[in-house]
Order: sequence, then C-alpha cells, then structure tokens
Amino acid sequence: MSILTIGMKHAGKGVSLLRKSVLCTKPQNITSININKLKYVQNTGEDVFELKNTATKINLQLKNVYNIESEISNPEISKRVLSTVEDYCNVNKNNNLFKGAKLKQDFLDNIDNPSTTSWDYNTKDISITFNENFDWKNLKQISQELYDNCEIPNNNPNFYIYRDCANILNFKHNPYAFHFNNSRHFVNGSELDAYRLSDTSNILKFNSSYVAARMSGKKYPKALLTMFEENGGNTNLKFPKPTPNRIIQGSIHHFKNQKDAINYLSKHYGIDGNFIDTKQANLFAGAVDDLSKALGSNEYFRGLKVSVDPTPFENTLTKMTLSWNYATGKAELFINPAYNWKNAKKLNVSDYDELFHPTINPKDTYIHELVHWLDFKGNPTRFGETEIAFSSGKTYYNQKGKIITAKVSSYAPKSPGEFHSEYISARMNGIKFPKAVDKEFEAGWNGPVLNFPD
Ligand SMILES: [Zn+2]
Repeated sequence: MSILTIGMKHAGKGVSLLRKSVLCTKPQNITSININKLKYVQNTGEDVFELKNTATKINLQLKNVYNIESEISNPEISKRVLSTVEDYCNVNKNNNLFKGAKLKQDFLDNIDNPSTTSWDYNTKDISITFNENFDWKNLKQISQELYDNCEIPNNNPNFYIYRDCANILNFKHNPYAFHFNNSRHFVNGSELDAYRLSDTSNILKFNSSYVAARMSGKKYPKALLTMFEENGGNTNLKFPKPTPNRIIQGSIHHFKNQKDAINYLSKHYGIDGNFIDTKQANLFAGAVDDLSKALGSNEYFRGLKVSVDPTPFENTLTKMTLSWNYATGKAELFINPAYNWKNAKKLNVSDYDELFHPTINPKDTYIHELVHWLDFKGNPTRFGETEIAFSSGKTYYNQKGKIITAKVSSYAPKSPGEFHSEYISARMNGIKFPKAVDKEFEAGWNGPVLNFPD
C-alpha cells in the first residue's frame, strides 16, 4: 500500500518511481533497525558510562584514602582491588600500607596470567599491572580449578590480588631482600615445606603466598612463619585471627588397665596387642574403632600383631614401624620402647608446627601405622615395590607429585606408603584437600574404601 501511495505521489518520474518505491521500503526497515540499534547503543552507553564511573570512583578512593595511584578502568578488577586493599588496611589499622604503589591495566601476552608485579629496588617504585587479556568474568571458576590442581593455597577468587598486594607489602618492608628472593629457592628438602602453600620453591613467591594465605584466616604451622620471617618477609604485618584446626575426637576409651584394652582388641578385632602403657593401649583401641567405622567392618585388622620391641629401630626418634615381607604377605607392628613417650603430646605439637604431620591429634600415631597395615595387606607386592624403590634412594614422586603430596605434610612426599598414612590421618580428623591430592591418593592406595568423617 505504501509503495502505491508513494508511487502515486511521484507519478511521472518513471524509473525513479520504482527506485523510490523500493527505497521507500528500505528506510522503514532501516529506521526500525536504527531504533533498536539506537536503544542498544544507548543502553551499552549507559552501562559503559556507569561502569567507567565505578572504576573512576574507585580510583579516586584508592588515591584519596589509601594513597594508591590507580589507572584501572575495568570495574571488575577495580572492585576486587579495592576490597583487597581495604582488607589489608583494616586488619593492620593503617591506610598508608600501600602508599605510593601504582596499579595499571594492560594487555599482557600470557592470557592465563591475571597480573604481574614490576619493581625497581633503586627508585623503590613498585606497580601491579592487571591483564586485560585474562578472563576476569570467570575468575571464581578459574580460582577453584587452580586450587584443585594445587597451584594456589585456597580457592578465594581474589587470591591473586592478595598475592600481588603482598608483593607490594614485602617489597616496601625490604626492597633488597624482595629483589633477590626472586632468584632464590628453598632447597635440600625445605622446598617440601614451601609447597604447603606454593606451587614453587621460589622465595619471593612463597613469601607473598604466605601473606595472601594468612589473610584467608586459616591457621598454618609455625614453620611457615619462620621461613617467611627468616627470608625477608614483612614481619610488621598483622593478619586476621586464625580459626583453630579441627580435630575429630572419634572413639575414646578409658580402660583402667592395659589388659582390658588388649582383651577388647582381641575380642572385637582379632588383634594381638601389647603396648607401652594403658594410655597408649586406649589411644590405639580408639584408632582401631575409628578406622573400622570408616571401613564399615571389624574384620580388616584380624591377625595383626603389635609388640613393644627395640629390634627394628635404629634411633630413638621413630615411634612405631610396620615390618613387612611382601614375599610371604606377612606384616607386624612394632612400638619403639626407646621413644620419648612421656613427652608424646608435646612432640605431636612440634611435629605439626614443623610441618611433619597434618594435626596434633595423639591418636594419629596409631592411625598412621594401622593405615600402613591396610595398605600392605591390600596389595603386598605393589606396596613392597613402591617402598623398595623409595628405600633404595629413588625419588618416587616427580616435582608435581611432591607439590601435591606436600599439601598433606612434609613427610608425605617420602613415599606412597607415607603419603597414604598421612593423608588418611588428616581425613580422619575432618581435614579436606584439593582434588589433585584426593586423586593421587585414589591412584596409589592399595587398601579398602574408607568413608571419612565430615
Ligand atoms: Zn609411616
């Protein structure tokens, strides 16, 4: 109809009439597209304006309140940066913690790298550059994956920002140490301690990971603080009060004498036991109860013999040991009478603080050894082969395996057997690990399935 009307209007213009009529339909469509496009542009424009406004406001706040020069224009980043800066400054009651630091935004080549810290230890300039090529929208999911792969110590989406901010704080404390820590590494076994937090033994990265991890409010063993303090970390920093680690008490026995505990173990589990004293017999009986409950059966320890005997021990520092023969499939537990059992409680705390064991629970000593028994009995040949490879001086775990197993304790990477015993001890106390640690356990474990307490 409109073509006809217009055609009528422009009658007499021949070909141009047709053209006009054709053109006439187009502008209508274009107009409607334009309206939509206009709306779209207008909305995006408002969003961009609002978002830019957010980043600008945050930059002003960073400048006015915290003396930080920020050129960040991505509000996704600037919001996270502000909340991280606020956390550090609030807990330290100091708004000048980051004074003079610069925050930038740029397209960095490595798209997996959310940010990078640059510094000059002569001029004392330090800046963080946030990567516009990084997928900031999926930071939560990316952080979870990195945590599950043992690359970062917790799944906080702001972990990287905490760590970059920690770089500034460590640098400001001791620019010289910070600069040289970038080319220093923990070695000779102490790298296993660093792996509790970090995916590298690089000291600069460990120090900043320590600060970022402590900001999460989790409790960490004292040895990590010592490593941080002895290697130029910022000793003036304050952290949120850590929440104590869990210990699941499980079964507790109060047999009045060793004989009653021995009878209980024999009657319920078919264990032939002998112990240093009643206290130890009670703890051992509790450990057997807890594991049997997790295993869903009282039959797994049938035939186990436990004796107090110095023969297998070369030193006074080893508490207990599993003596095994994988050709015969026989194994037996020995308790070292020369160990300082009177101080066991205190020694458990120092084992935890030195990263040697995941908890301070005295029952863990017995759980650890009982797990060796389950591991051996499950597949004596496989258990024997991995242990022989270990005792012949070969390193069973590669670099990544060490990083994974060291999340449990610095003793766990010694061999698959020790990893399994340390892992189960921790899980029986309700401690949870990144997925890569669970997978490593499932791949190596020879024993029956356990349902760990929550
Ligand atoms: Zn062991």
